[in-house]
Amino acid sequence: MIRYKVQGGQPHHRFINFVALFPSMGEYTTIQLPVWRPGRYELGNFAKNVRGWKAYDADTGELLLWKKSTPHTWVVESDGVDYIKVHYEYFAAEMNAGSSYWDGAQLYINPVNAFCFLLDDPEMNMDVQIHVPHDFDYAGGIPSERKQTENGESIWRLVAANIDHLADSPFVFSRDLSSHDYDAHGQKMHVWMNGEVNFGDFDWRKDFQAFSELQMSMFGDFPRSHYHFIFQFAPYFIRHGVEHENSTIIAMGPSQAFNERKNYDSFLGISSHELFHAWNVKCIRPKDMTPYDFTKPNYSDTGFITEGVTTYYGDMMLIRSGVWSMAKAKIQMEEFIETHARNRGRLHQSVTDSSVDTWVDGYTAGIPGRKVSIYNEGAMLAWMMDVDLLVGSQGKVSLDDVMREMYKRFGKRGVGYTSDDYWNICKELGLNRWESYRYELCEGTGDYLAQLKYTLKHLGWKLEWASSGNVAEDYYGFLVDDMGRVINVVFEGPADDVGIGQEMRITCINGQDVHRNAKEIMQKQTGDLTITVEDKWREYNVEVLRREKPFKRKAVLVDIENSDLRQIWSGSRLGA
Ligand SMILES: [Zn+2]
Repeated sequence: MIRYKVQGGQPHHRFINFVALFPSMGEYTTIQLPVWRPGRYELGNFAKNVRGWKAYDADTGELLLWKKSTPHTWVVESDGVDYIKVHYEYFAAEMNAGSSYWDGAQLYINPVNAFCFLLDDPEMNMDVQIHVPHDFDYAGGIPSERKQTENGESIWRLVAANIDHLADSPFVFSRDLSSHDYDAHGQKMHVWMNGEVNFGDFDWRKDFQAFSELQMSMFGDFPRSHYHFIFQFAPYFIRHGVEHENSTIIAMGPSQAFNERKNYDSFLGISSHELFHAWNVKCIRPKDMTPYDFTKPNYSDTGFITEGVTTYYGDMMLIRSGVWSMAKAKIQMEEFIETHARNRGRLHQSVTDSSVDTWVDGYTAGIPGRKVSIYNEGAMLAWMMDVDLLVGSQGKVSLDDVMREMYKRFGKRGVGYTSDDYWNICKELGLNRWESYRYELCEGTGDYLAQLKYTLKHLGWKLEWASSGNVAEDYYGFLVDDMGRVINVVFEGPADDVGIGQEMRITCINGQDVHRNAKEIMQKQTGDLTITVEDKWREYNVEVLRREKPFKRKAVLVDIENSDLRQIWSGSRLGA
């Protein structure tokens, strides 16, 4: 067993102290820190937050010799040593759903960031004691209780089966935690909220119950005996969620503005998405990540399933359970289409390849037009395939059946799946043109919009394109932020034609200097522009001609008829 003692240091220093006791593995003992975290398929480089790592003989207190063999691996000379005592500090100053944070009011740890394990025995139990002030409460997926108290502090104990279990069980100790619960199909669901939040008149419990019950009905059961939503409600804008074995951490803000429909919908959207992950990813897991290998990247081409299918169902479960209206459904689908169409990466990289490439640039804008989003393109694919299955079976078979089959064959049996397995199930269940979905749209850079016409026809919608209302984009073919930074250029539009590119900054527009007001200035323009562009090494003027007619880049779904298929698609589909 590996034992840990964890305690926050001076709050404003943001360091958490770790003292660990590792059994010696013989002549050398290799101690490893994870290099990535499940849910974020890129290197996390957590070692950059570790300070003062030292190893001692636990009996004699003598300092041992060690050498780093990778940034995340310490090889300790442990001949004749029974237990190695390791001490280090972890800098916990980042607040998102996958980070760790300590500020005196809360001790929040994603263990995958900060806990080392034995490379030769990742299955070893981990016994963690956490020292926090008396008035802190606990939220996390591993049951815990206050073991003893002294000097105004409490000691909480978490026992994890192995590093995998601990890494997948983030926790929050805080004095601002409130505890809530609701029932879904007899399953008690826990909701922890850290921080004050304003939901206005919205009844979140009722809405959570609705989407949770529908998800459970769709799969037939819930794979865990208990489940925890853990919300970090921040006063500033943040929207980030990470799925775990029997919990999810969701960082959301601004917390006083969840009485506004848009923010509240975003809160529901992310919550439904994360719960769907309890099946899809945490249970129905790609073979490439079964088990997780924390010592190196775990490449997988299944992002269109893990994140794409989850993105689609996160929204669909809100629509199908009646929490979201058909008007909202239409907006969500328009967003998928628009995000797809605006990204010229669709011409250059398949969603399959983008899935592997999350490890290099999956969570940044990346270079212009290089890649596509596994979330958006995966959701588009799932949508089109869902409707195609419904059409081909007169409403009897849908993507629900594919996911149920995935759950039955792989999730419930604890066996990892490959993308071949997924496509085979689609084929078995009668997906028309499955080869085209797979080879042209998923593994190739085929035309989604051509296929989408078929989807929309059956749902009684027609796709039209409208101007966005953003003057800079509509008439000049670029988008800027307030500071004048060019964030997007319409290919072969007026700005592109005169050499304006992403990465440049606009400092002056028709004689008016830009001071955090570029968007506002652009919105008032009615004629041709003379603009000054700053391009790292030089600054120069360019003339941008105004288009007579605006670009039309906004996707609009026009109602043709409320088709029978649309009603099935947007209904609960239970008992069908
Ligand atoms: Zn996700």
